[in-house]
Amino acid sequence: MVVIPFIDLKSQRIAYKEELQKAEQQVLDSGIYIGGPQVEALEEELALSCDKQDFFAVTCGSGTDALTISLSALNLQPGDQVIVPDFTFIAPAECVAQLGATPIFADINPNTLLIDPSEIAKRVTPKTKGIIAVDLFGECAPYQELRKVAQQYGLWILEDSAQAFGATQKNSQEKKQYACTFGDMAITSFYPTKPLGCYGDGGAIFTSNPHLAQKARELANHGSRSRYLHQSVGFNSRLDALQAAVLRIKLRHLEEEFSMRYKKAKIYDDFFMNWKGVKVTPQHIIDGNVSTYAQYTLLAENRERFIQILTKAEIPYCIHYPMPLHKQPCFAHLTHPTQENNSQQISQKVISLPFCAFTDVQSIIEKINSIA
Ligand SMILES: *Cc1c(COP(=O)(O)O)cnc(C)c1O
Repeated sequence: MVVIPFIDLKSQRIAYKEELQKAEQQVLDSGIYIGGPQVEALEEELALSCDKQDFFAVTCGSGTDALTISLSALNLQPGDQVIVPDFTFIAPAECVAQLGATPIFADINPNTLLIDPSEIAKRVTPKTKGIIAVDLFGECAPYQELRKVAQQYGLWILEDSAQAFGATQKNSQEKKQYACTFGDMAITSFYPTKPLGCYGDGGAIFTSNPHLAQKARELANHGSRSRYLHQSVGFNSRLDALQAAVLRIKLRHLEEEFSMRYKKAKIYDDFFMNWKGVKVTPQHIIDGNVSTYAQYTLLAENRERFIQILTKAEIPYCIHYPMPLHKQPCFAHLTHPTQENNSQQISQKVISLPFCAFTDVQSIIEKINSIA
């Protein structure tokens, strides 16, 4: 019995093995292991990939660090409030809380699973400083509406694009614009299972503001611009040269991987639309958005039944995420909505299937068909 991997990193490594091994060997032989020419080259390539003039990429130790560093660069202070989607991975809310500020949870749209801009205005107080928008499962948040709310209340937007580097959205001029360019600052993650992943932890910060870029770079390196002179209290959060070399190889293949991902997502979509087993609906991708499909996520009316079928067919699955952030024990002390919201309901329906550029979607569908 062949076990289906949830994300097939082994097949990806086999596909690029010669290139990867050559790049890895060069770094190991170079004597430069943190920062250095590989990291500098990667930062240039990342910024170029976002297709925006005068744009900066600053790498760091993880996506979570990238969020914390960005919030620090934006000068978030204890007592401040930041609006965060109620349905997402914990990191954006965690980073706000780590800096002594308070995450305020805004509900999501039940079809796109993205933050609902109309839920933001009613949560703004004099303490609100900004919004963290998450490009969930690889789909860009609704930035035109978010920018309107942000401007109305004088807030910044931090774009959490941990799952969406390379995604696009049509902007107000009907032009394709890349993820990581919508926020005043943006971040991505190179955690191994993200669409652009390395072989350990890694992350990057993006901005077109040279002062914020400089500040982020300084904070990631002990608050220091020149050796042993510390402008601010910073972090040790730098990218390894080995990870940069791996990312530069994978970046070269990203476009072709994305086109494989779209085709595979379409095959899943077509199958589930007509499937007679359990009523399931994929995350809605808004017209003008192109997702990275960091996760292929469905909403199942009867998730228990769907899980029984998947288990019988020996298909792995994940629940992203089993509860809204406002229900997490670590945020129990904050005030929360008393009514059940979309985030709560959606957390009971979501289920993600095996997915990446190397997933054999056809054989998964055949297995499902053989059961139900
Ligand atoms: C993965 C992820 C992060 C954190 O990235 P790490 O590199 O694992 O620290 C932050 N936000 C979201 C939405 C994520 O999915």
